[in-house]
Amino acid sequence: MLAWNLGATTEIWTGYAADAQIRFAGSSGGVLTALSLFCLEQLGMEFVLHTGKDAEKPWLNTTVQSTSREQLLSHAGSRYAPSSPCDGLALVESSPGPCVFIGKPCDVAAVDRLRKQRPKLDRNLGLVLTFFLRRHSKHTRDT
Ligand SMILES: Cc1cc2nc3c(=O)[nH]c(=O)nc-3n(C[C@H](O)[C@H](O)[C@H](O)COP(=O)(O)OP(=O)(O)OC[C@H]3O[C@@H](n4cnc5c(N)ncnc54)[C@H](O)[C@@H]3O)c2cc1C
Repeated sequence: MLAWNLGATTEIWTGYAADAQIRFAGSSGGVLTALSLFCLEQLGMEFVLHTGKDAEKPWLNTTVQSTSREQLLSHAGSRYAPSSPCDGLALVESSPGPCVFIGKPCDVAAVDRLRKQRPKLDRNLGLVLTFFLRRHSKHTRDT
């Protein structure tokens, strides 16, 4: 049962990636990675702007561009450290075609506001994805 207020919600579905490698590489079923790969391979989108491990300091995050299954798989999973995928939005804006953006809910809220002012960014955001990120209070703990 959902124990917190979701706000306006059209539908809630549960599921996981049908591709076993993606399913088990993903944080909770690999749906974000699977949808992103579909956009690259089936819809011909340019790249996925998302978050991965910083090569120099692996305990930190960095914003990454993925254009292949291998790259998407290497960045699958949740990274519990600060991230800033919006710092790569200029790459989306200057891209020759539509892209996928994956970010925290606050990143997606920022993208939603910015795209209203930037027509090229708006046009190039082919799919914007986020995940649940529950606010902590004395009554809730992260899962
Ligand atoms: C910091 C954090 C807190 C979370 N808290 C909750 C929670 O309380 N309850 C809950 O139900 N779910 C929470 N989630 C979401 C959950 O862990 C999964 O990310 C989500 O269910 C998607 O799973 P997936 O298998 O579809 O994603 P995957 O296919 O594994 O893809 C994950 C995607 O998220 C991106 N990503 C990873 N870490 C970050 C980050 N820090 N910032 C931005 N993008 C990132 C990766 O680049 C990747 O593209 C949290 C995630 C994060 C990163």
